[in-house]
Amino acid sequence: MAKNILVSGTMAFDTLETPFGKKEKILGGSANYFSLAASLFTRVELSAIVGGDFPGEYLEYLNQKGIGTANIEISGAGLTFHWEGKYSDDMNSRDTIATHLNVLLDYNPSFNRDAKKCGVLFLANIDPEIQLKVIDSAEAAELVITDTMDFWISGKREALDRVIAKTDVLIINEHEARQLTGKSNIFTAVEEIVKYGPKVIIIKRGEYGAFMYHKKKNLFYIPAYPVKEVFDPTGAGDTFAGGFTGYLATCREPLDLKEIKKAMLYGTVMASFTVNDFGVEALKKTSRKDADKRFEHLMSMIEI
Ligand code: AMP
Repeated sequence: MAKNILVSGTMAFDTLETPFGKKEKILGGSANYFSLAASLFTRVELSAIVGGDFPGEYLEYLNQKGIGTANIEISGAGLTFHWEGKYSDDMNSRDTIATHLNVLLDYNPSFNRDAKKCGVLFLANIDPEIQLKVIDSAEAAELVITDTMDFWISGKREALDRVIAKTDVLIINEHEARQLTGKSNIFTAVEEIVKYGPKVIIIKRGEYGAFMYHKKKNLFYIPAYPVKEVFDPTGAGDTFAGGFTGYLATCREPLDLKEIKKAMLYGTVMASFTVNDFGVEALKKTSRKDADKRFEHLMSMIEI
């Protein structure tokens, strides 16, 4: 039987600019994107904080999707986390224009029984000090998967090192792997990261796909799913993690190499839906059947 997933991360308003337009304060956040993708595979308990400005009807929508919202704290007097970003013309890189932490500044998460019972923990992008508290509370988690980003690598390195030491699978992008290790060669960087604790490192490479490095010196590369209409890459990394973790939560032996490889395909497929529209719009319309169809297609493309 599939294990439930506890995810801790951000629920956000995002202000985004891509070559296809600008959107002000649309719904985003690392835990939000992750949950929408992972909920196609199993039940997700979402832990986050929002301000009084966050739309209540969206929380109801998540509930209908099989995403538990009882661990989302609503800080009535505060404002929801707000991130502003701008993409380059080829959309392969982006600049953070502003990060308004708002309610995150005083966030001290607490968890109900359902959250504590989850067999899989996904630490989405959020302050590593919060990630540490979540690890301590996730009593039943047999598998810990972690994401982070440059903002925390440079801002909270000591806490982040402690999180990584307790992580089974670390998912980061190429630039972050180099930043984390100070190594410019990506293979030297992943060899360094396994020394910090994780058994498996997943390196995301945007439109060029992703690769896995396993402690036993195993390498596996996959391409991105070919998508011609890319409007907004925001959340691609989080939904990759959602498809990846969601699939592993259904596996008896999640750290088996073959399962990890299949999970990378599901991650890739979920990310390919996200980029089709701004914010969470395309993801909201995606079913498990859609995901399976692209999974089979991607599988047929990489077969020799
Ligand atoms: P991705 O494109 O997968 O890296 O995820 C983008 C999402 O991460 C956006 O919806 C943002 O709201 C959220 N985000 C951006 N910066 C941070 C941060 N420093 N901590 C946590 N979440 C963030």
